[in-house]
Amino acid sequence: MGLSGLKYLVVGSGFFGSVMAERIATQLKEKVLVIEKRNHIGGNCYSLDDAETGIHYHLYGTHIFHTPNPRVWEYINRFTEFNGYFHQVLTTHKGRVFQMPVNLETINTFYNVSLKPFEVEAFLKKEIEKENIKEPRNFEEKAISMMGRPLYEAFIRGYTLKQWQKDPKDMPESVLKRLPFRSNYNESYYFSRWQGIPLHGYGKIFEKMLDYDEIEVKLNLDFFKIRDIIPKETKIIYSGPIDQYFDYKYGKLEYRTLRFEREVQPYEDYQGTSVMNYADVEVPFTRIHEPRHLHPERTDYPTDKTLIIKEFSLLDDGSNPYYPINDERNQNLILKYREEARNLKNIVISGRLGEYKYYDMHDTINHALEMFDNLQK
Ligand code: FAD
Ligand code: UDP
Repeated sequence: MGLSGLKYLVVGSGFFGSVMAERIATQLKEKVLVIEKRNHIGGNCYSLDDAETGIHYHLYGTHIFHTPNPRVWEYINRFTEFNGYFHQVLTTHKGRVFQMPVNLETINTFYNVSLKPFEVEAFLKKEIEKENIKEPRNFEEKAISMMGRPLYEAFIRGYTLKQWQKDPKDMPESVLKRLPFRSNYNESYYFSRWQGIPLHGYGKIFEKMLDYDEIEVKLNLDFFKIRDIIPKETKIIYSGPIDQYFDYKYGKLEYRTLRFEREVQPYEDYQGTSVMNYADVEVPFTRIHEPRHLHPERTDYPTDKTLIIKEFSLLDDGSNPYYPINDERNQNLILKYREEARNLKNIVISGRLGEYKYYDMHDTINHALEMFDNLQK
């Protein structure tokens, strides 16, 4: 492969790398090489049809597109239409099904009462006051000061233990910020104004984003295999793990990952919804996905079988880094790596793995668009 004269190299074809490549090609009209170590483009958003059922699913876990950001919404709609899917999650606790995130329906069913929204605060206050938490100092205290211990123990504690294999007392309260808590019947998982699933899957978005004469994509190519032969003048946009870029010189950043077990069930509809959480520690998986529900508009799905995917959480061994573990050790490490990165010339290290941040897709796209704006300044 001839790299001489290469002006832009993008490492990784997830949303960060693909947006940057698209911008360079269409706005700067410059040639750009995108290298991807996997055998497909799209990073963790990649989706495909299941061979046995024909049902479209997301290989690395269900991805719901949502955004409150008009710029991101306008941008992504250049590459796909969305199907109007609206994300709602349910959770199973002791064999009963409740709405998640905790809302008025969850509270009323759990306590077998019929509270009105304006009665919720006083009702939960009695529970919360029992705990005498002045200033919440960790995940558990934060959750209890929002909803009281019984709801926390039922819906949050077990799931969080399974997801992070850590006592919620030893976790930062920031993890909880992703989860709304509502005293009305709103059952939307997200606050975002816009949401949906790409009509033809995520794969097609990336194909379209990278389909310019200026862009060349090379799959199955690891940056570290060619690092030594990249010309000094080439500008590198790197969206792989930041610690790997620096040869782990300060130590490895830790991640949680997921393991998925796929099963075909002999029903048209197994669980009636796309994601069912399992709140109890006795159930080894955290949730079951049923991807057919992501595409209610499809009429060609089988009526005699359905695909379900059980999700298990575990510590990453380096092969599939998903969720950054934001404890003190990792926070100290990332600060050191970021400091190193600031001193580099001709390279941007970013994206979910480059920043060691849990970005949703719209955060990633927004970040890439802003970073491209800054490149031009
Ligand atoms: P990635 O998608 O991880 O892409 C990085 C790419 O770089 C990968 O393809 C990787 O193979 C490649 N790469 C790494 N190192 C090298 C190397 N050395 N050489 C060549 N290539 C390399 N967001 C939502 O908005 N909604 C959701 O419902 C949602 N669900 C999620 C569920 C899970 C389980 C996970 C893990 C994430 C979820 N996200 C969701 C977040 C979403 O996946 C990310 O925001 C998005 O993928 C980030 O894009 P990225 O380009 O930064 O990283
Ligand atoms: N969470 C929980 N119970 C649930 C769902 C989520 O306790 O039924 C907690 C858990 O700690 C999780 C966090 O809320 O890590 C964020 O949840 P989210 O659904 O945003 O996680 P993701 O979909 O990103 O895995």
